[in-house]
Parts: sequence; structure tokens; C-alpha cells
Amino acid sequence: MAQTTQSEKHAIVIGASLGGLCAARVLSDFYDRVTVYERDELPETPANRAAVPQGRHVHLLMARGAQEFDGLFPGLLDDMVTAGVPILENRPDCIHFGAAGHALGTQHRLQDQFTAYVPSRPHLEWQIRRRALAIDNVTLVAQAVDEPVFDGHRVTGIRTDDGTTVEADLVVDAAGRGTRLPAWLAQWGFDRPREDTVDVGIGYATHQVHIPEGLLKEKVVVAGASRQQPCGLGMLFYEDGNWGVTTFGTGKVPPPADFEQMCQLADEILPEHVSSALRRGEPLGPIAVHKYPTSRWRRYDELERFPAGIVPFGDAVVSFNPTYGQGMTMTSIQAGHLRRALQTPGQDLARTLSKATAKTTYPVWTMNAVGDLTLHGATGPMPRWYRPVGSLFDQFLGAAETDPVLAEWFLRRFSLLDSLWMVPSAKLVGRTVRHNMRLWLAEKRAKSRRSPETAGSAAGHPT
Ligand SMILES: Cc1cc2nc3c(=O)[nH]c(=O)nc-3n(C[C@H](O)[C@H](O)[C@H](O)COP(=O)(O)OP(=O)(O)OC[C@H]3O[C@@H](n4cnc5c(N)ncnc54)[C@H](O)[C@@H]3O)c2cc1C
Repeated sequence: MAQTTQSEKHAIVIGASLGGLCAARVLSDFYDRVTVYERDELPETPANRAAVPQGRHVHLLMARGAQEFDGLFPGLLDDMVTAGVPILENRPDCIHFGAAGHALGTQHRLQDQFTAYVPSRPHLEWQIRRRALAIDNVTLVAQAVDEPVFDGHRVTGIRTDDGTTVEADLVVDAAGRGTRLPAWLAQWGFDRPREDTVDVGIGYATHQVHIPEGLLKEKVVVAGASRQQPCGLGMLFYEDGNWGVTTFGTGKVPPPADFEQMCQLADEILPEHVSSALRRGEPLGPIAVHKYPTSRWRRYDELERFPAGIVPFGDAVVSFNPTYGQGMTMTSIQAGHLRRALQTPGQDLARTLSKATAKTTYPVWTMNAVGDLTLHGATGPMPRWYRPVGSLFDQFLGAAETDPVLAEWFLRRFSLLDSLWMVPSAKLVGRTVRHNMRLWLAEKRAKSRRSPETAGSAAGHPT
């Protein structure tokens, strides 16, 4: 058995993906040694990994997530830009953004500072990995963890897949949504956490595509699914000069199965100049597919009893509908919770962390569920108020197509800036209603101007 010395504080992290690496960064400030265990082969350069199959599909890094990651790893964003990662600075002409069938009016210059970065998922993970593993007291061990060791009172370390036991003061479970922690809890005599779920029935299909230079000024193209069109599409221009093009189906509708079908979807839901640029593109390599049946939130925050010595982290706690692009950012926010919990000695770490995580998860989870259940064909328990809120939101997005103030508000909240609550103020709701009313009246007037002409032509009179 590998032991720690009496005075030395040792933390173990299971998993070296984004969650585990952020946790290791925070722990390195509080523990003498941090050991990260990873079962997957970790590439030396930015590349996809077998154990993170989602990395092949487009990953939006929200503006808030970029800020949080840079707070954890200062210099990260500058280095990414130096490495060629596109940066969007108050330049809305770089973005085409559609949500629930509405193309937002983001073509106007934004009023507030807005900076976003567009790294591919393998590039972002590689940048973060090399920083986290360069920290003096952080060590990577390329080995799978079999299970945490529980001594009847608390978790005291881990057992690796070759039977070695390693002691630790704290184990962080960042093993992703497939973690076996709920089963281990039951085995140790604790309750399993209740699970909130939404059956979103999402399927992803992704191609990397080379589009000839000069055809597109956009760097980010997003068109979410809608009531009428259950498939959506995201196109991100990456640091290698190619585009990640992901199409997805919601509510169990399969996504396009090949490049031609992807282009057909683009013809339907994207501006003409974008879809024709995509048609002129060359798909590189094979198509990647991924199924994501259910969003899942394990309610550790509700458990009365939880063993000391272990905390769940990242997707192991909550896995959000990936089409909204929030998972990495919400993980970076959890890292802040972990730091604050560790800064308050004498507290029950697992309880403090899980309560704080629940507080920031709730608004994001709830608005996702409203969208999924009322607009995107998902199934799951739905409080009565979801439907009117979903319809109101649809109205809001409709107004945001032509009102740049509403569009900017949505873009910022969607990027998890300002607040995690996607709830417009009474002033903005009033603005929405007035805007839609004006549009409705203008349309009515235009119609009545047109109708005598139509009547005239129908009667055979010259117009
Ligand atoms: C299709 C898809 C698209 C997504 N798109 C976006 C997006 O656009 N934007 C966004 O912000 N988020 C997105 N996400 C979410 C994002 O990928 C995750 O939130 C992020 O990876 C953080 O996850 P994690 O580190 O907690 O877990 P994971 O990334 O799943 O990593 C878990 C790690 O633990 C390791 N591991 C597991 N078990 C063991 C063990 N026993 N021993 C040792 N190692 C172990 C695994 O090998 C892996 O490296 C998407 C997710 C999916 C599925």
C-alpha cells in the first residue's frame, strides 16, 4: 500500500478530463500532493481521446467559461490565441446565432464588452492539461481506478485496477457521467442520490470540413432545433483552419447521416451564403456519431448522509443537454465552489460543495428543461408553469430577431455572463410585448395595403 506521511496532505483525482484537471488545479493550493489517475492514453498534442468521445463533436466554450478557465490558468486565453484559436471581440458579424427557430439580430455592434474564444475541444483540453500537469505538486498516473477505499467511516484512498491501494485525505470523483459513485455509496450503506432526468433523445453527427478561405466571415454558426425543425446545426471555425460541423436531432429524431444530408439541413436552417459555403466544403475523414439520451443531475445536495473523504465533481454530478454548450463552463464554475469550500476549514466539504453546485445548477438546468420539454420534444416530469414560460420565451426570441437589445441580452445570458438565470426583467418583457405588437401592427397594415391590389388583380383590373 502506498502511504502518505503523517503531516503530508494528499488528494487524489479520478479522471484527467476538464473536470479532473480543474479540480487538480484548485487542490494544488490546499494539498501537499495531488495525484490524478487517468485510464485513457493522453496524447502529447491536441488530439481526440477514446474515453472522451464527445470531443469529436463541436464544443462551444461560453464566454463565462473562458473567463473562469483563465482565472484558474492565467495566460491560457492569450496562449490559445497565439496558437491560432479564433477570438470574437464585440464583432457580431462573426456570429450567426439561431435559437428555437429564430435567427437573432446579432448583426448590430454589441453595447457591452463581449469576448469569446473558439478552441476545438481537444485543443482546449490539451492547453489545460499541460498547465495542470506542470504544477509542481500535481502528478499524473496513467492507470484506472478500480474503486475508492471505504474503511466503514470514511473514504481513505483508492484501489487501482492492479490491486494497489493508495491513501489520500480526499478523493475527487471526476470520472464523468458514467461514474459508479452511486453504486459505491449503496455498497457502503449510504443512500444513492435521487436523479433528476430529462429524456432529450439527442443524436449527434459531426464532420470536420475544409471550406475554401474567404467564403465566410462568420466564425461561429449556430442554429438550434425548434418546434417545427427537430434538427439543429453548429459550425465552429477552429485553430487548424477547418470547421467542426455538428448536426443533431432532438426528441429521438436521428441527425443527418452523411455530408449531403448535413448540407440539406443547412439549406433549410442557415442563411443561404453559409449553406452554399458548406456545400463547397470538403469533408475530412469519417463522420462521428454520438447518442445522448438523457440529461442527468445527481442530487447529492439532498443526501442527509454522505461519507467524508470523497466529493463528486463535473459531469459526475450533472450532465447538461450538450446542444446548449454549457458543460465545460458549469464545470469551471464548480471549480470556484471547490476553492471556496476548501477555504472554509471545519465545514463538511461534500455538503458545502454539493449545496453550492446545486445553487448554480438549478437556474441553468431548469431553463434547459423548459426548452427541452416545451420546444424540443423531450420527455420527463414537467411542472405546469413550464409551458407558459416556454411560450413566453418563444415570443422573446421572436422579438430578438429584430431588436438588437433583446438579442444582446439573450447572447450574454446564453453565454452564462451576467447571471445564470435566463429570466428577462419586467422592463425587457414589456419591451418584447411592445416590439411584437409594433411588428404585428406593421404586418397588419402592410396586408391591408396589399389586399385591395390583390382584389384588383383578381378582378382583372390593371394594377
Ligand atoms: C456530445 C457532447 C457535446 C458536448 N458539447 C459541449 C459544448 O459544446 N460545450 C460545453 O461546455 N460542454 C459540452 N459538453 C460537455 C463536456 O464535454 C463536459 O462537461 C466536460 O467534458 C467535463 O466533463 P468531465 O471532466 O466531468 O468528464 P469527462 O469529460 O467525461 O471525463 C471523465 C474522465 O475520467 C476518466 N475516467 C473515468 N473513469 C475512470 C477511472 N475509473 N479511472 C481513471 N480515469 C477514469 C475518463 O477516461 C475521462 O478522461 C458536451 C458533451 C457531450 C456528450
